[in-house]
Amino acid sequence: MELNKPNGLKQWTKATREWVRVLAAHARVFMFPGDNFKCPCCGRSFSRFLYSPYLTARCPFCLSIERYRLLCKFLVEEMHFGQFPIKFLDIAPIWCFQIFCRQFKNVEYVSVDIRSPLSDHKMDIQSLQFDDESFDAALCYHVLEHVPDDRKAIKEIFRVLKRGGWALIQVPVEAPATKELAEMSPYEIKHVLKWDDHLRSYGPDFFDRLEEAGFEWSESDFVTTLPREDVERFGLDLKERITICRKPG
Ligand SMILES: [Zn+2]
Repeated sequence: MELNKPNGLKQWTKATREWVRVLAAHARVFMFPGDNFKCPCCGRSFSRFLYSPYLTARCPFCLSIERYRLLCKFLVEEMHFGQFPIKFLDIAPIWCFQIFCRQFKNVEYVSVDIRSPLSDHKMDIQSLQFDDESFDAALCYHVLEHVPDDRKAIKEIFRVLKRGGWALIQVPVEAPATKELAEMSPYEIKHVLKWDDHLRSYGPDFFDRLEEAGFEWSESDFVTTLPREDVERFGLDLKERITICRKPG
């Protein structure tokens, strides 16, 4: 499938934004020299994380949060990421993870988003403009709760994966059962949904939607297998679990 290439002005704007982002990152990490903590996304060491009331500890350089730091460590240690040639689809990219992926020459990285300037292609996940079986692996982290038809999006991820390919798909599972925003009471919107840009709250039945699309899935408690000093040093969350979805071969 032929995709539109960005024009010169867009490429220049994107490069300028990247330059400003890198400059700001260097300024932040300069303020916290040291080796107490290390970020698995960008590989930088520093004396402390940055803290925010909503998202706990962020890396001073790439601004990664716990779930992305665990993800990067998991990909390297459990999925052998970067050790073999792989075509990888990142849905709704964030900068810390792009820094991580760019370290690997074996990873052909492609990102899509409906609006983010970080993405390679402007694209709706409910209708991916890629041929069937185009990718070896994909990431869709905390995206589906923002998508009107999440079932359609999951089917699209399944479609563009090669047979035997895998995807890491994660949503916040915080309710007894999945419920759409339109069906929720004001109390549920305030206390269960919490975020005003989420279109539904997910319950454990979310995993049924993965199976409906054809995925076989399993959950990894990788973080609990790590030494406690690593959990501390890399700023990880012991409650975090990673869902691995596989397209049957
Ligand atoms: Zn970092």
